[in-house]
Amino acid sequence: MSKIGVMGGSFDPIHNGHLVAASEVAARLSLDHVVFVPAGDQWQKEITTPAEDRYLMTVIATAENPMFSVSRIDIDRDGPTYTVDTLTQIQRDFPFAELYFIIGADAISGINTWNNPERLLDLAKFIAVTRPGHKIDLPFDSSRSIQTLEIPALAISSTDCRERVKNNLPLWYLVPDGVVRFIQKNDLYKETE
Ligand code: NAP
Repeated sequence: MSKIGVMGGSFDPIHNGHLVAASEVAARLSLDHVVFVPAGDQWQKEITTPAEDRYLMTVIATAENPMFSVSRIDIDRDGPTYTVDTLTQIQRDFPFAELYFIIGADAISGINTWNNPERLLDLAKFIAVTRPGHKIDLPFDSSRSIQTLEIPALAISSTDCRERVKNNLPLWYLVPDGVVRFIQKNDLYKETE
């Protein structure tokens, strides 16, 4: 049975911390492949960067790694993004694969407010990746279904990357070079959010 990592997030923008996290989880759990799934319409918050730009940055960032691919399923599906729908669709496409949903620890803290949390934990194993020094705060006893891993490179954050652009500070080496150029070319993150 193959083991597929599903890396969900806004990727606004994708940064080297995300890439290190995916690579690290893949190595430690012997995954065969990691598919990045940029979130579509977020029902719990407002994202101003167009989904298509977040998708393209994710493609650029992952293009050189043969173990990585990017899926449009969340941005192409109408309506709000529910992870239960994402994982159901991936399971349908890969019925014999074991799924590992890789997500930031901050994001997983709210899992009990997501659609159908019980079903979610049946569809995939959850891997919560944390920043150094970040204490994960799970809302219920889910230690059997959610594994946590500390990723030092996750000291980089998308929020900080957006702030750096706004303040004319460099992004080089925090995100892949192609993503820096894409952000410059498309004038992303310049306006006040
Ligand atoms: P997000 O803004 O992408 O991330 C929230 C926090 O977690 C940020 O600190 C982020 O760091 C970190 N993070 C997120 N994904 C990560 C990853 N794969 N690896 C490392 N760090 C990551 O969170 P979000 O927009 O809420 O979404 C995260 C995922 O949860 C998406 O796939 C989304 O569809 C899903 N979700 C589902 C529901 C639902 O089903 N109802 C509700 C909420 C979220 P950076 O800012 O540095 O990325």
